Amino acid sequence: MKTDGQESAHSDDTPHTPTHGMKRRGMMLVLASPPGGGKTSISREIAKRDPKTMISVSATTRAKRPGEEDGKHYYFVTRPKFEEMVSNGEMLEYALVYNSQMYGTPKAPVEEALNRGIDVMFDVDWQGNRSLSATAHEDVVSVFILPPSWDALATRLHNRAQDSEEEITKRLAKAKDEISHYKEFQYILVNHEFENSVERLRSIIDGERLKRHRLRGIDDFVSKLKPGK
Ligand code: 5GP
Repeated sequence: MKTDGQESAHSDDTPHTPTHGMKRRGMMLVLASPPGGGKTSISREIAKRDPKTMISVSATTRAKRPGEEDGKHYYFVTRPKFEEMVSNGEMLEYALVYNSQMYGTPKAPVEEALNRGIDVMFDVDWQGNRSLSATAHEDVVSVFILPPSWDALATRLHNRAQDSEEEITKRLAKAKDEISHYKEFQYILVNHEFENSVERLRSIIDGERLKRHRLRGIDDFVSKLKPGK
């Protein structure tokens, strides 16, 4: 992904991460976990608390689950429509998940948000992390969320009750596969307790916001740090 110039980044002077009016480019916070690992609820909580963040809405060919809304949880599209989006270059990344359904990240809203200094969270699998890390380099901060134990994960998947036994078996297999990719992530967060995990993820975000390469206004700021200015 291209990295735009200083003029397109916005100030990020929040109480948590004061940057003294310096403009900042947003980061791409790639969150992965085995299904049932907690990434969806953690990212929603962060988005609710921090107006400088948003969650990227993926497109998928899978069927809508009860309670899901088109445009909010996913863009639910047909396979031909998905393929059209891919061939028009509208996807930042896409992957075949569970060997059956396509999932992908639409590009335009992400680029627009990053340019406004908004941090975008991505609920993707390990394949999504690989593609995004390969194309977006320094914009990407990748976090892998692990369950405290295999039993905790299996119990969560069973308690969801939205899915059939067959679907649960598929998700447990996906969980095992997903966990095997933990080494491809920059940060590891073991999700023992929800509130604590939210706070630790916020600490990661706060630290990453102060990375020099994201602070587009740093040269201006430093040039003014002179006697008499
Ligand atoms: P679910 O069907 O349970 O909502 O998601 C299934 C898996 O697909 C999850 O691991 C989720 O993170 C992943 N996923 C959702 N959206 C995307 C996407 O845009 N790209 C990729 N690579 N994976 C995605």
